[in-house]
Amino acid sequence: MVILAIGGVGRPVRALDPGENETWVTVEQFERVLDAVTGCEDVGLTFDDGNSSDVEIALPRLVERDLTAEFFPLAGRIGQRGFIDADGLRELVEAGMSIGSHGWEHRDWRRLDGRHARRELEVAPKLLADLSGKPVRAYVPPFGAYDRRVLGRLRRSGATRIYTTEGGAASRDGLLRPRTKVRYDVDQQWIDGVLGDRDRLYRRAGRMMARVSRLVRL
Ligand SMILES: [Zn+2]
Repeated sequence: MVILAIGGVGRPVRALDPGENETWVTVEQFERVLDAVTGCEDVGLTFDDGNSSDVEIALPRLVERDLTAEFFPLAGRIGQRGFIDADGLRELVEAGMSIGSHGWEHRDWRRLDGRHARRELEVAPKLLADLSGKPVRAYVPPFGAYDRRVLGRLRRSGATRIYTTEGGAASRDGLLRPRTKVRYDVDQQWIDGVLGDRDRLYRRAGRMMARVSRLVRL
């Protein structure tokens, strides 16, 4: 399948981190993407960072099209200006969306000391599980940055899905799932390119999957 990674939608209501504006799309771009994937069983949708647009803009448009998605909030930013709050998170779950962890405060998980590792990889998913009422089994390492150690840790803590950002095709039952980033400059041509010839993409992906599974078999 093809899995899209979406950041914020609409106009940000907080100061963005450096480079983060590239992960924001307009409402019009977002609706275009949703219209293109509606009815496609082999396209997955994920939302990173827990922006307030997840609930205010994305959720009603997903529900309207009978789509579901996985959301990856930053546990440490829940309730802060521009991010979803606990009620918003519950609203997502009640609408049939799933919640995974993007950690506490957007740190590179390859470079964590003991205290930060605990917060990013243990406290964050626990808080998200408590708030959503469901266990957290899916993870998105910030910056798409991971190594064998990160994968091993996540797997030992019960991860069944780890989403990255290499693009290309993802296996439906794989632990490591590459995603394609939806960026600020997304247009119809890009959408057609990514979603257009998926059968050819899946054939090509067979070879890549073999490499990925070697990496994951720790
Ligand atoms: Zn992020």
